[in-house]
Amino acid sequence: MHYDVVIIGAGMSGLAAGIRLAYYNKRVCIVEKHYRVGGLNSFYSLGKHRFDVGLHAMTNYVPKGVKSAPLPKLLRQLKLTVDDFALCPQRMSVIKFPDKALRFNNGFDFFVQEIADNFPRQADNFQKLLRTISEYDELNLYTKPISARQVVSSIISDPLLVDMIFCPLMFYGNAQEGDMEFGQFVIMFKSIFKEGLARPEAGVRHILDVLVKKYKSCGGELKVRCAVTGLKCTNGRVVSISLENGETLTADRILSSAGYVETMKLLANHDSSKLNYQAGQLSFVEFILILNKEPAEMGYNTAITFYNNSDRFDYRKPDKLVDVSSGVICCPNNFQFENPLPEGIIRITNMANFDFWNKLS
Ligand SMILES: Cc1cc2nc3c(=O)[nH]c(=O)nc-3n(C[C@H](O)[C@H](O)[C@H](O)COP(=O)(O)OP(=O)(O)OC[C@H]3O[C@@H](n4cnc5c(N)ncnc54)[C@H](O)[C@@H]3O)c2cc1C
Repeated sequence: MHYDVVIIGAGMSGLAAGIRLAYYNKRVCIVEKHYRVGGLNSFYSLGKHRFDVGLHAMTNYVPKGVKSAPLPKLLRQLKLTVDDFALCPQRMSVIKFPDKALRFNNGFDFFVQEIADNFPRQADNFQKLLRTISEYDELNLYTKPISARQVVSSIISDPLLVDMIFCPLMFYGNAQEGDMEFGQFVIMFKSIFKEGLARPEAGVRHILDVLVKKYKSCGGELKVRCAVTGLKCTNGRVVSISLENGETLTADRILSSAGYVETMKLLANHDSSKLNYQAGQLSFVEFILILNKEPAEMGYNTAITFYNNSDRFDYRKPDKLVDVSSGVICCPNNFQFENPLPEGIIRITNMANFDFWNKLS
């Protein structure tokens, strides 16, 4: 079978690329190895319960009417509207460390005031950091990567505040241990603190349904349970893919959203020792608790808690199965939904060691 474009992976980026291409009349096929779309942001059902995987909240939330921010721009490119995602903003989130807590919601001025109240000596430095962030061109792919820790620590002199700012940005958008690239820091800072967090009442499933429906309505083809097992290259260019079921697909263009290292491994004669890049080290486990009442009835009103119980926030692969000394607690009930959710849910995400989990029999 021949296509204009084949896309490997039906996560958010594969689906988005598929919509754009199918909309512009390309013959597109997305191949996904899992039985369900979504990739890192997906969902599953167990008994009568539905569980989201990965996505706690959608970042980059902006109120209706704001047009120039990344989310409305992206949705326009997908020929969707912000209403299609039915996003409801968070109530309040918090960064909780042993002796300090910084709350934030979707109004950035509130966070600026929290910093001024809790770290009065850093208020001017924080303003300086904001200027540095707004002057930085985070989307320029040709900028030399720089350490975000170095930049931020050169402006903010209290290491506790530095750790508290990094904690949510690292959990939600960084695959590197201990530090992150400054451009990525700026992207995450804007998307979490300056814009904000929101969720559809039906969770990530709703967003995925909207994307798949749009993709198919534009004529896109989707094959699930269809792992790519090999890529064939001719003259330095991928010309076909082999699927687990024995099929071969050819295409003028083949895009992969499976990850750089994972994609390179699919090449025939691949030599991993020559790869100048290491797969991300960080893995997470998630605990999901179902409650028989709304968490707010027990006095818990926070949408997302980013916590750290140690003196310093250490973002790295633990040398045990799971490190509960820091993590993220998400309460889907604590978003501004029109109706309460049918049950109370608490999701706790912690850093884990994949190798240890993989060795469990
Ligand atoms: C624990 C956790 C929590 C997160 N929370 C949030 C959040 O609250 N808000 C937020 O905005 N972002 C969050 N993120 C980030 C978000 O999940 C990712 O940025 C996003 O899912 C990446 O999408 P993607 O399509 O690029 O990649 P992926 O989701 O990784 O999709 C890649 C797809 O390729 C498929 N694939 C891989 N290999 C093959 C193969 N050989 N053949 C066929 N298919 C293949 C995979 O099955 C997968 O479906 C979170 C991430 C994690 C890990």
